[in-house]
Amino acid sequence: MKEYSFDLARARQDTPGCDKVLHLNNAGAALMPRQVLEATTNYLRLEAETGGYEAAELAHDSVERVYDAVSSLINCRRDEVAIIENATRAWDMAFYAIPFQPGDRILTARAEYASNYIAFLQVARRTGAQVEVIPNDEFGQASVAALQAMLDERVKLIAITHVPTNGGLVNPAAEIGRVAREAGVLYLLDACQSVGQMPIDVQAIGCDMLSATGRKYLRGPRGTGFLYVRGEVLDQLEPPFLDLHAARWVAEDRFEIRPDARRFENWETNYAGKVGLGVAVDYALSWGLETIWSRIASLAADLRARLNALPGVELHDLGREKCGIVTFSVQGLAPEEIRRKLAGQKINVSTSSLASTRLDMAARGLQEIVRASVHYYNSEAEIDQFGEAIDALLY
Ligand SMILES: *Cc1c(COP(=O)(O)O)cnc(C)c1O
Repeated sequence: MKEYSFDLARARQDTPGCDKVLHLNNAGAALMPRQVLEATTNYLRLEAETGGYEAAELAHDSVERVYDAVSSLINCRRDEVAIIENATRAWDMAFYAIPFQPGDRILTARAEYASNYIAFLQVARRTGAQVEVIPNDEFGQASVAALQAMLDERVKLIAITHVPTNGGLVNPAAEIGRVAREAGVLYLLDACQSVGQMPIDVQAIGCDMLSATGRKYLRGPRGTGFLYVRGEVLDQLEPPFLDLHAARWVAEDRFEIRPDARRFENWETNYAGKVGLGVAVDYALSWGLETIWSRIASLAADLRARLNALPGVELHDLGREKCGIVTFSVQGLAPEEIRRKLAGQKINVSTSSLASTRLDMAARGLQEIVRASVHYYNSEAEIDQFGEAIDALLY
């Protein structure tokens, strides 16, 4: 499908922020559609007017809806979904549940996110497991062949980032999943930037665990995220923390952990956020993830072409198939200065620095880059305006 069949007018009408800013920081936090804003604020009002516990009872179905919405989004069962306050904690709950032994190997990739890598290092220090990095292929993606060659019986976990925080790369998640399945190795996918941006099917990918956030491409409220854990591996994974929601205190000296993925949740949570996340997922499903993905990919390609034509602008995106995250630098201008100047014109971008994806950035000799991340509600006119704004910075 070509992008001109996309109903841009509806997308923008549904997005109150479109009138106020040129938002190219969707990889940071996307603009919420009014449906999400209304559901979230209405829920907060209900809490204020009826009481928090009473609101939860009254709105039980809309709070529970998020589990069905996420299960439709990623093609899993609702009891394989935990709603968690962000992607990092979701990922942590899965990762820290894995019982590592000295000599166990954790295989990750070059574009891995800082928080995940910090956790690898901590667990390696505590347990004697070791962290190893899968080399890139000629496209700058994690090499599936190299991964295959690294496998042995000591590999306990393959944990990679699908789309990194610092660029257009899309790692071959499903090919890696096939390798993991064949080898019978646990596979944890950080899908924080890919969920909501492109179709994600955990059966097709073959991951055992997947983490995502609400506020990025899903356009949900901040402070929301989720974890998927495949039913067959749930029993092997004892959550690093338990409470009276994750487990039951059944006798003075005994507790029983919940059988479903909600063992990774905790009792008190942001109910308004949960409702908002459910609406955000349903809203994305109403557009269709194929439609969203082709629109984003096409806008990002336009943006790259536009930037590429400017002298002094260098693009930094890796990968065979590139996503909505466009990264670049401009000769003679610091990324932070560019961000600030654009902000003064109500154009939102962000920067990505060495410490967020150290392995990848260091290998490419990059300290900091500008990140302009498009969403389907961005217009072609905005891409033009952005190109002109960058062009104007050059003089
Ligand atoms: C943003 C991001 C995270 C962290 O998500 P939070 O919801 O902020 O915890 C993890 N991984 C990647 C690749 C990200 O871009």
